[in-house]
Amino acid sequence: MTDSECLFCKIAAGKINADVIYESDDVVAFRDINPQAPTHVLVIPKRHISTINDLKKSDSGIVGEMYIAAKEIARQEDIADDGYRAVMNCNAAAGQTVFHIHLHVLGGRQLTWPPG
Ligand code: 5GP
Ligand code: ZN
Repeated sequence: MTDSECLFCKIAAGKINADVIYESDDVVAFRDINPQAPTHVLVIPKRHISTINDLKKSDSGIVGEMYIAAKEIARQEDIADDGYRAVMNCNAAAGQTVFHIHLHVLGGRQLTWPPG
């Protein structure tokens, strides 16, 4: 998939509307359209990366930034102390449906483990 066809590239570029709650030079975070918890936010790099499998050593900074964003969002959403989950799905067996990496930040309820 090219960047021009990618849903999350379009959201990052502001071409498709999303409920954006956090933005830095390199990442943007918005509420999931089909939330699985009271807080369900997706943190994405503005630059297109399809899956975790495509990460290069030089992408370590952007992945770190995604987690720093998750931490900030958890504080903003007041779920930091109670607890939350910040996870990425990779490919079909994990249920990845949008092939632009995204960190799911989930909280506001008791989450179960192991996940389904
Ligand atoms: P995945 O299954 O790939 O890990 O997660 C993709 C997530 O993107 C899903 O939780 C889905 O609800 C969310 N999603 C899909 N399309 C849109 C959209 O157009 N806008 C927003 N805000 N979320 C979306
Ligand atoms: Zn993309």
